[in-house]
Amino acid sequence: MAKKKVKRMDGYDVVIVGGGPCGCVLANDLTKAGKKVILIEKGGNNLKGLGSMFGMTNGEHMEKAKGSVWQKTIEGDGVVIGTGMGGGSYLYAGIVGMPQFEAFDEVGMDLRPFLEEAKRETWVSKTPDEFIGPQTRRMLEVCHKLGLPFEPAYRHIKFDKCEYGCTSAAFGCKRHAKWMGYYAANEAAERGATLQIYTDIKEVIVENGVAVGVKGKGVKDGIDYEIRGKLVVSSAGGLGSAMIARSAGIMSAGNMLFGDPSISSFALLPPGTKGSFYEHGTSISMMDDEHGCLFSTTVTWPRMFWSMYQLMGTGGIRGAVKTFREFPRIFSIFNKIHDAGIGQITWDGRVSKILTNEDDQKMNYCRYINTKIMTEMGCDPSTIHHTLSRIPGGMTFGHPGGTCSVGTVVNNKLETEVKNLFVCDISSLPGAPSRPPVLTLVTLAKWFVPQLLGRLNAS
Ligand SMILES: Cc1cc2nc3c(=O)[nH]c(=O)nc-3n(C[C@H](O)[C@H](O)[C@H](O)COP(=O)(O)OP(=O)(O)OC[C@H]3O[C@@H](n4cnc5c(N)ncnc54)[C@H](O)[C@@H]3O)c2cc1C
Repeated sequence: MAKKKVKRMDGYDVVIVGGGPCGCVLANDLTKAGKKVILIEKGGNNLKGLGSMFGMTNGEHMEKAKGSVWQKTIEGDGVVIGTGMGGGSYLYAGIVGMPQFEAFDEVGMDLRPFLEEAKRETWVSKTPDEFIGPQTRRMLEVCHKLGLPFEPAYRHIKFDKCEYGCTSAAFGCKRHAKWMGYYAANEAAERGATLQIYTDIKEVIVENGVAVGVKGKGVKDGIDYEIRGKLVVSSAGGLGSAMIARSAGIMSAGNMLFGDPSISSFALLPPGTKGSFYEHGTSISMMDDEHGCLFSTTVTWPRMFWSMYQLMGTGGIRGAVKTFREFPRIFSIFNKIHDAGIGQITWDGRVSKILTNEDDQKMNYCRYINTKIMTEMGCDPSTIHHTLSRIPGGMTFGHPGGTCSVGTVVNNKLETEVKNLFVCDISSLPGAPSRPPVLTLVTLAKWFVPQLLGRLNAS
């Protein structure tokens, strides 16, 4: 039998697997520091379909599962993860969550000096006044009256390029107003980094207990690849990095998975009142660290999406029809909770994740506060509906991570038990961020660059 051809690529200072926000920023900053870098991504490097619901579900930017537009847990809930050069930042809403440094302090990592640079790089800015619509402004007043400290949200957005009321932030921003890892990766390429796309990494090459490269398969060309370098960094995200670590014999990887599940509440404003869906989405928010919840006005998505979403909640089919019909006066609030890290990645790469009673309590707290706000806004209480967590498909986990966490799989230099194999992404966080994680991740990547440079200089 003819021997299968292997394409060998060698001589890199750093081999990075995964083009999410972490991988892209690492590649760019290491290249700026003069290092020879290869960034390997199993998806493509394009902006095809950006800005449309169908474009986002064509498999180029979001991981699909058989019979579903996104991945599912074994229990039937949604796991939404991005793919391609940019990873999750293609489809994130661009909401900023300020890093919680205390969790890193506990493991001896001081990220603070890197925050300002990360903010600049990811275009962090406060939602300007003119992007806060009339109902949202009224909600702000109502919340302050109720003692809820909502404030204009920080976003990874250049508002001078953004359009008020745009409904496509989470389908990818075609106006180039929302920061994406894609920009950092392509800047790295202009500086000389190699972007190796459509290459799915299956295995870390470990020789004498040291990582020396990776093996993978071309998604389009079917070619076997062997890519070698001095240091190997997995930035393949919450699911990908766990599988990569396991391929190197690290059996502790793949546990402690969190997902930051989201829920929503809907209600009808009095007849004749224009609802909040015509206004700019996620323009005000409140991080409630005491209760481990995030509150925000809803991401603006088209009518059909919200109507379908109602099916997952107390509204059922009638709620879905009503949401579609009464869309002009719908008012909605969006939440995320800081869930327990008790999920797992199975041996074949599937996700198993259930909620604890404490998670449920946090969600009920959100529903309670949402109801208070909606009632105060004048919504008819009989029209208030919430999405549910205890029905299959009722949950979506948009931030799966924690599966290679600091203190369990990596040490506080982000190195695994296999020398020269590191993990830097959402999987290496010390616990659920309980807030949108991209700013934390980019801050972590910026913190990690000098560590890697020190290691390269010492070798
Ligand atoms: C709908 C949605 C909305 C969100 N909204 C926000 C928000 O408003 N604000 C915020 O801060 N965060 C938000 N997030 C979360 C955020 O996008 C993710 O947490 C973040 O992208 C994780 O970054 P990462 O670098 O860890 O990895 P990822 O972004 O997951 O990227 C990992 C990359 O690695 C690649 N990969 C995986 N395995 C392999 C392999 N074996 N070989 C090669 N490549 C591989 C993947 O294709 C992917 O491109 C949202 C997420 C979703 C899904």
